[in-house]
Amino acid sequence: MHELALSQGIVEVVCTRAAADGARRVRRVCIAIGALSPVEPNAIEFCFDAASRGTLAEGAVLEIRRPPGRARCRSCDRVVTIAGYDRPCPLCGEGRWVLVGGDELQVLELEVE
Ligand SMILES: [Zn+2]
Repeated sequence: MHELALSQGIVEVVCTRAAADGARRVRRVCIAIGALSPVEPNAIEFCFDAASRGTLAEGAVLEIRRPPGRARCRSCDRVVTIAGYDRPCPLCGEGRWVLVGGDELQVLELEVE
């Protein structure tokens, strides 16, 4: 994965929102990296500092949440938490399901001043 490019994308989203709010700087950014996303949270954290330098988001605290993988089982039709792409439904053992969450990379909230 290209964590630097992804971090730059996050900074861009954050700065656009902050600028629209007339903010002078961003204090805190909260993002979600789904547990099933191939994106490496440590690398994002590391790259965020470099990507935000010279922007409204410079020095902002980055908070990373890891929403679990969620899937709708094709057999029992329930939404279950799934620990990996190769795991079966924990309720009925069926291996066919459709992912409904947990692979996202998303800006959730920001705190500006
Ligand atoms: Zn099931």
